Amino acid sequence: MYLVFRCDCGRAMYSKEGVVRKKCVCGKTFTLKSRRIIKKTDDFKTASKLVRELQEEKYGGLKFTTADRI
Ligand SMILES: [Zn+2]
Repeated sequence: MYLVFRCDCGRAMYSKEGVVRKKCVCGKTFTLKSRRIIKKTDDFKTASKLVRELQEEKYGGLKFTTADRI
């Protein structure tokens, strides 16, 4: 089982269930139990897809919209 969650900096990430601590790229380390889990999924492919979607949601899907804005 994989857990999808967010760091305080807003970055979405996933981790295998059972992992106690996780370090974000921002440098913050936290215990998974203290995080609000956004989603649980059985396979990492779904987890990584969710993370990508959450990142695009947060940053406005820049990849897809910049062409229209010019
Ligand atoms: Zn972070």
